[in-house]
Parts: sequence; structure tokens; C-alpha cells
Amino acid sequence: MQQQSRARTYVVYLGLGSSLGDRATNLQNAVNGMHNQSDGACIAIEAVSQVYESPHMGLAFTDSETYPAHLNAVIRISTNLEPELLLNAIHNVEQLGGRERTLHWGPRTIDIDILLIDDMVIDTARLTVPHPGILHRPFVLLPLADVAPKIWLASGETVESAVQRIMTERPIIRRTADAISNPGMAGRM
Ligand code: ATP
Ligand code: CA
Ligand code: CA
Repeated sequence: MQQQSRARTYVVYLGLGSSLGDRATNLQNAVNGMHNQSDGACIAIEAVSQVYESPHMGLAFTDSETYPAHLNAVIRISTNLEPELLLNAIHNVEQLGGRERTLHWGPRTIDIDILLIDDMVIDTARLTVPHPGILHRPFVLLPLADVAPKIWLASGETVESAVQRIMTERPIIRRTADAISNPGMAGRM
């Protein structure tokens, strides 16, 4: 008897960032865009972090003119998309969100990074997973701790202990009152 092969489901953490335009709406549109996939691709939004604000890397809030402050959040999704196809879906959502690829690390309406895919390690021309920025970026670690405080990182620490470590460096970051709603939960009790 032939066995049907079943598509694998991946649990993925995505980091979202916006530093141009209506930043909170850009984050919400990105979450909605990831949820609304066509072509039989399935992406379920499982958890959404709080929203954090921090100045552009290495700057203070006060010199934000050229590089405005960022809003960041993290979501957990589950998906049947293979990693490279997930990256394509992300690029589509970024494009719909008005992302223009100009300066590296320049201001952008939306940036979506793949932080973790299960415990996979990927190192190809297009994709590095875990994302190399996780361990030293407060704007990744703090929202990641909202949705996955206990998971282990490549550094041998949990996300919550990485947050404790990074907070001793007194990063400039604050939680905002913005809230991202989960489009997958609409209408559910
Ligand atoms: P950083 O990755 O340091 O946060 P960035 O997000 O500004 O920088 P982008 O210009 O958005 O970088 O992406 C450049 C390329 O990085 C993408 O086209 C993609 O192929 C590649 N890339 C490699 N690993 C990842 C990943 N884990 N998530 C998203 N893109 C990745
Ligand atoms: Ca990024
Ligand atoms: Ca990116």
C-alpha cells in the first residue's frame, strides 16, 4: 500500500519592524498579510507579542531624523511552507507593505525577518536561520520573550535569560500602547 506523504508543519518565529509612515498600521498589515495567503499556502498566526519602540541601532531617540525610531514585534506562526517559500511569501508581504530596498538598514515601512524555524539551522545564500541578530538585539529579544520565554537559543540560554542579560546593558527600548490583533482569532470566543 502506498503511503501518502504529508506536508510538514513548521513552527516559526518572525520579527517585524517598521520605521516609516504609520508604523503600527504597517505591523498590523504585515500580520494580516501573512495570514491571508493564497495558493494553498497555510500560515496560521499563533501568538502576537506586544509592540516595542527603540531608536535606530546605535542612535538615541533624539537624533531620529535621518533614521527614525522603529516599532518592533514578534509573531509565532505555523506553516506548511518550506523555508525558502516562506521567505518568498515574506517578500511579497513586504512589497505589498510598500517596502523599498534602498539603504541597507535604512528606514523602511516594513521588515519581516525569520528568527527561528523549529530547531533548524539553515545557511544558504538567501537564508540564515536562526537569524544572526537574535542574541544581541533587544528589539528582537523583548518581544520574543512575550511569546516564547522558555525556548532555548543557540547561546545555551533561554529567551528570558537572554533578556535579563541584555537588560544589564541598559538598552533604549520601551513598550508602547500599540496592540496588534490576531486576524486568525477574529470572531472566535
Ligand atoms: P538584518 O537581516 O540584519 O535584520 P535587514 O532585515 O535589513 O537586515 P533585508 O534587506 O531585509 O535585511 O534582507 C536582505 C536579505 O537577507 C533578504 O533578501 C534575504 O534573502 C536574506 N536573509 C537571510 N536570512 C534571513 C532571515 N532569517 N530572514 C529574512 N531574510 C533573510
Ligand atoms: Ca531585519
Ligand atoms: Ca529583513
